Amino acid sequence: MNLRKYVTLTPMTEKLPPLETLQWYQAAGIDETIAEEPVNRFETIAEPIIAASVSISEEKPKPTILFQPDASQQAPVFNARTDDLASKAQNLDELRQMMQDFDECPLKATATNMVFGTGNPEADIMIIGEAPGAEEDKQGLPFVGASGRLLDLMLKSIGRNRTDVYISNILPWRPPGNRKPSEAEVALFTPFIRRHIALVNPKVLLLLGGSAVSALLQINQGITRSRGKWMSYMDKDLTIDAFASFHPAFLLRTPAQKKASWRDFLTVKQRLNG
Ligand code: URA
Repeated sequence: MNLRKYVTLTPMTEKLPPLETLQWYQAAGIDETIAEEPVNRFETIAEPIIAASVSISEEKPKPTILFQPDASQQAPVFNARTDDLASKAQNLDELRQMMQDFDECPLKATATNMVFGTGNPEADIMIIGEAPGAEEDKQGLPFVGASGRLLDLMLKSIGRNRTDVYISNILPWRPPGNRKPSEAEVALFTPFIRRHIALVNPKVLLLLGGSAVSALLQINQGITRSRGKWMSYMDKDLTIDAFASFHPAFLLRTPAQKKASWRDFLTVKQRLNG
């Protein structure tokens, strides 16, 4: 099991110079320094974590809407207030600025940079992952760490690179320690990525991992069952072909699944070329 450890810098090792102190912590398996003082997170999250409770403004939170564009389709769960906000962005620059200014999620306080998107917004394919990791947080770009390097190789295998795909994530801010995003965080940010998709309007959506599939298609059966087949992503009058595949981070841990993933990418290539 890969446990991530945190530390607040304490006087315990004050006899060591700063660089040696950090190296000492790193050797002990600690890969996050967060702040001088520990934070009591039980105090900052007073309400139970449900989608409707994500608000740190004075305003009373509005309830999350179960939005049903078509009764026969999946019903995405998202926050009504951010849905209203995101729908006002008329282009990607406006959306980026709106998300940068959006202060109602504690993730912004612990992250370094917002990760919006990268690549070619005119591309026929938009790839969506879960959330930034440490390297993405540092650079402000999606998929630039180990997962990103594998994604680049997978794209290369179908003749693509970052100039002819567009890449983003469900969450724009890194969850501390790369923890899985909570349902409330996903509900809060899903309207932004839905608007992002509508503005890019690709021919094909490639969803990497179960989080992207459940946030955008409301299919919670697990990526092993949902991958490898065409589905429809719907938003108002927009319908886009969506295809799910394994997340590269999963493939790094489970290389035996790379073969299935490669087949997925070939299927997507065929659809794009056809
Ligand atoms: N994993 C993701 O889902 N997205 C990134 O940008 C990086 C790692």
